[in-house]
Amino acid sequence: MAEFEFKCEFCKQTLEVSDDMAGEIVDCPNCQKSITIPRPPLRAVAPAPVAPAPAAPKPPVQQSRPQPPAKPAPAPAASAAKAPVCPECKSPMQPGAVLCMSCGFHTKLGKKIKTEFT
Ligand SMILES: [Zn+2]
Ligand SMILES: [Zn+2]
Repeated sequence: MAEFEFKCEFCKQTLEVSDDMAGEIVDCPNCQKSITIPRPPLRAVAPAPVAPAPAAPKPPVQQSRPQPPAKPAPAPAASAAKAPVCPECKSPMQPGAVLCMSCGFHTKLGKKIKTEFT
């Protein structure tokens, strides 16, 4: 039957009680107020002051993070190569256009039609 000390919450008087009285309400012998005897300090369990804090924020492991699909970036060179080029003056033409706006070459007719207006 071990005894332990605690302080009265009212008069701060150090009181010595046996640990089987923990949780009981007694009258302080100093101030006569009713005080609840706290639980005795755990002596069996050695206090671990430098215990690793479990609440320490760990950097999240990102191996489960879904990898974004590697979508091919639209290469400007590819679209430029896809765009038609005037076979006459090598100027880039509008996609789907058949008439070169630079020299008037008609790709479907295979000749310049703009020169007829000059
Ligand atoms: Zn007291
Ligand atoms: Zn042209």
